[in-house]
This record gives sequence, C-alpha cells and structure tokens, in this order.
Amino acid sequence: MKLKTIFLIFGLTAGTAATAQDSEISWRSIQVAPGIYMLEGEGGFPGGNLGLLTGDDGIVLIDNGLSNFSAMTVSSVEEITGEPVNFVINTHAHGDHTGANAAMVGKGATVVAHDNLRKALVADEQFDQSGLPELTFNDSVTFHLNGHTAYVFHIESAHTDGDAAIHFTDVNVIHSGDVMFNKVFPFIDLGGGGSVDGYIAGQQKILAMADDETKIIPGHGPLATKADLQAAVDMLIDAQARVKALVDAGKSKEEVVAAKPLAPYGSWNWDFITADIMTETIYTSLTSE
Ligand SMILES: [Zn+2]
Repeated sequence: MKLKTIFLIFGLTAGTAATAQDSEISWRSIQVAPGIYMLEGEGGFPGGNLGLLTGDDGIVLIDNGLSNFSAMTVSSVEEITGEPVNFVINTHAHGDHTGANAAMVGKGATVVAHDNLRKALVADEQFDQSGLPELTFNDSVTFHLNGHTAYVFHIESAHTDGDAAIHFTDVNVIHSGDVMFNKVFPFIDLGGGGSVDGYIAGQQKILAMADDETKIIPGHGPLATKADLQAAVDMLIDAQARVKALVDAGKSKEEVVAAKPLAPYGSWNWDFITADIMTETIYTSLTSE
C-alpha cells in the first residue's frame, strides 16, 4: 500500500470524526517520567501517540499527528511546555505521525529523522515540503538535554524502511513508533519498505532494551509494558508460522485467507487491520522474500 493511500485512510478516519466532533478531539498527556510525557488522542484520532521531552535546555517532540490537527497539536504541546518546540523527531514517514511537521518548522523547530524517511517525504506529493527533516541520520543519534539521554536508533525494514525508536536510557522509557501497536494487529507497510521479519526483529531489539519497569509509548494504543510487547511479538511470530504452514502446503493467497489461520487472535482485530488483512500482509511478505 502506498504512503498516499495510508495518508488518505488515516485522513479519512480523522475527517469522518471531525464532521461530528472536531472540537472534542484533543491530546491527553500522561507524565511517564520527570519532564517526559506521552500524548494520546482523545475524543477521536488526531494521530499516533506523541512523546514529549520538556525542560530548560530545549523541547523535543516525537511525532506530531495528522496535518488537519496541526493547530491543535501546536497549542496542546505549548500548553505543557510554555515554549515552542526546538526539535521534532519523526519515527516514520506516515501522515498520522508527520502531519504537523510544517507547522512545527514554521514555529522554529528542526526536524530529525532517518535518511530513508526524508526520501519518502520528498517523494510524497501530499506532504508539505516545508516540513522536511533538516537533520537526518543513518544508524542513530543521541540527544543530551534537560538531564536526560535520548538514544534515537534506526530499525531496519520493520513498519517502513525509515523507522526510528527512542530510548530514554536514564529513565527507562521507550517510544517505539509504529514498531508496536499495543493490543491490536500491527500495520506493516510492505510498499513502504516494511517487512514481517524486520518487524519481528525490531520488536525483539526493543524487548532486549526493556525490563519489567520499562514504560513503552507505542505508535498506537495505550501506554505499554514489556509484557505487552512480548505478547505482541509472540502473536506475530505464531501468526507468521500459521500462515507459513499454509503457504508451504501450496495454498494460494485466497485459500490462505479463507482458512482463517489467525482465528485464535480475534481480539487483536480493529477496523484498519482485521485478521484477514493481517493474513494477507504475512502471506505477501513471506512469498516476496
Ligand atoms: Zn505508521
């Protein structure tokens, strides 16, 4: 699926909600450590979960929601910080995470992201090019601000080909970007350079950094624990094995989907990624290797 399609789907979801109750959609902040917050959408879908680092040295915002909620996102963040954002980190290129880049740059922020993310945004006709990252990295970059250490690292070919996650090493907080959807099937953007194997490896990489006290801000869903991430990776490994058994038996894509191999995982269904769509994604990823 193309980035443009994803943008439209997320835009449409937000747009549908917006007609009825636009003014009721907001960001709710949860403090996860001193000076560090998770912001999650409330009353509708303004975008994937945000991360926010505050303090005298500078403000760092992780992701920034859909473009049609830019003004609300700018004011919600400034309500907490009292200052404009200095740095924006994009965890990946999708429109529900980068939509307010241009608004943030307009207020003086510098956008930081993986090299491949910038390439994807340059190629995205829907994206306001004034919000492109000015600072890109290939492997990792580390922020040392407000007494905190934020290690920003690339995860190869997982949700997209330009994913980054952020580990606040001193306070045991991780923002996973969309390498974790908490308690629901993940969207894996094969057209955007993601892969099921890479997604599993990325989740395992984050797991290795976590312990029982770690707070994980997922790209989507409620604040998570290591056990939640373990459940997500266990599900995906088993789901992949279930689909692979059918592929190995020579079944076509239609036959695999019809066999409902992910039936035991009904509770992970949601409107965007159903068990059938998850099955198709795994099938496609397995057979294109
Ligand atoms: Zn995404």
